[in-house]
Amino acid sequence: MKKIAIVGAGPSGVYCALCLLSFGIKNIEIFEKNSPLSTLLPTGGGRCNLTHRGDDIKEFAKNYPRGEKFLYSIFSKHFVGDTLEFFSKIGIETYIHEDERYFPKSNSSSDMRKKMLNALCDIKIKKQNITSKDELKEYDFIVISTGSKGGYKLACDFGHSIVEPKPALCGLKLSNNSSKYPQGVVLKTKDGDVLFTKDGISGPLIYKISSLRAREPFPYKITLSLIDEDKLTREVKNNPKKSFGNVVSGFIPKSLAHVILKNYDKQCANVSKKEIEELKIITFEVVSTDNKGEIVTSGGVNLKEIDKDCRSKLEPRVFFCGEVMDIDGFCGGYNLQNSWSSAYCAAKKISEII
Ligand SMILES: Cc1cc2nc3c(=O)[nH]c(=O)nc-3n(C[C@H](O)[C@H](O)[C@H](O)COP(=O)(O)OP(=O)(O)OC[C@H]3O[C@@H](n4cnc5c(N)ncnc54)[C@H](O)[C@@H]3O)c2cc1C
Repeated sequence: MKKIAIVGAGPSGVYCALCLLSFGIKNIEIFEKNSPLSTLLPTGGGRCNLTHRGDDIKEFAKNYPRGEKFLYSIFSKHFVGDTLEFFSKIGIETYIHEDERYFPKSNSSSDMRKKMLNALCDIKIKKQNITSKDELKEYDFIVISTGSKGGYKLACDFGHSIVEPKPALCGLKLSNNSSKYPQGVVLKTKDGDVLFTKDGISGPLIYKISSLRAREPFPYKITLSLIDEDKLTREVKNNPKKSFGNVVSGFIPKSLAHVILKNYDKQCANVSKKEIEELKIITFEVVSTDNKGEIVTSGGVNLKEIDKDCRSKLEPRVFFCGEVMDIDGFCGGYNLQNSWSSAYCAAKKISEII
C-alpha cells in the first residue's frame, strides 16, 4: 500500500489529511515538530477568521499580493463554498460577519482545532522535526505543509528555490523624524485607520500597506490623505477668531494636531491657503517592519516550480500546500483559504494517482 507523509500539522497539513481521508485514503503519517494546529489558535484573535465571502474567483484572488494568478486554478477546484461544506461535514458550522468574514459558530479557534483533530480519527501525528529528504525515503508521496518556518530547507533538498521570505501584514517602524506621533492615538483617514505605536504605525490599513510593499527595500515613504481641503477651508473661514489648532482638532486627534502643526495657536483669520494645503496629506518614512506584528510571510517556495495541482514540477512525489508556497493574502480569512484550497488540490491529485 502506498504511503503518504505530511510534514507540518498546521491548518493546511491537517486539512490535506482530512481531504485524503474523505477520498478513502488512510495510509497517512503526519509529522509535526510542535503541537498540532497550534498555529490555528491565535487566528482571528482566537475566533478563527477561516475565510471570506467569495462569489467570484478572480475577484477573490485579487486579495493576494503574491499568488493571485496561481490561485485561479486552485480555487476553481475548491473554493469558499466547498470549504464551508467540508467543515460542516466534520461538525464545524460557520457564520458570516457583516464585514463578510467567516467564523466558526463557536467563535473559538480552540474548538475548531479540537474538531479538526478529532476528525483525523486514527491518523497519527508524530512529534518530529523533519530536516532532510532522507527521513522521508519510505514514502511514495510527500506533502510539505510547513508554513513559513521550518520547511524551506526540506523544499531545497528536493531541488526547489525559495523566494526570500519577508514579513507582511505587520506594523511598520518609522524613522526618528517620523516617529514623533502620540502613542496609542488613532488617526482616521479616508483610506482607513492608522494606530500610532511606540516607534511606528499599525492597524488594518498599515497591515495592508506592509503587505503590498513587502518586497520593497527600506526606507520607503507612505503618503495618506489627512484632511479634506475644502472642508478645512470652510471651517477656517467660518471661525476666523478660533485658533487654527482648535479647528484642525475637529478633524484629527488634538494630540496629533499639536505634533503636526507648527502654528497651532495661530488665529484662523491669518492662516494661508498653503498652510491648509499642507494638511491634505501626511507622509511617513518607513525604516523597517515591526516583526512582532508579523502575521504572514511573503515569499516561500517558488510558484514557477509548482503545478496547478500543487505538485512539484521537479520531484513528482512532492506536493506543497499553504503558506510554505510564495502566496500571501490580506487580512480577512484569505490566508487560511489558501491553506484549505491548496491542501484540497494536493489531496485530490494524490487520490487520482495513488
Ligand atoms: C496571530 C495570527 C493571526 C492570524 N489570523 C488569521 C486569520 O484570522 N485568518 C487567516 O486567514 N489567516 C490568519 N493568519 C495566517 C494563518 O494563520 C496562516 O496563513 C496559516 O496558519 C498557514 O497555515 P499552514 O498550515 O500553511 O502553515 P502553519 O500554520 O505555519 O503550519 C505549519 C506547521 O508545520 C510545522 N512544521 C514546520 N516545519 C516543520 C518540520 N520541518 N517538521 C515538522 N513540522 C514542521 C509547524 O510547527 C506548524 O505547526 C494569522 C496568523 C497569525 C500569526
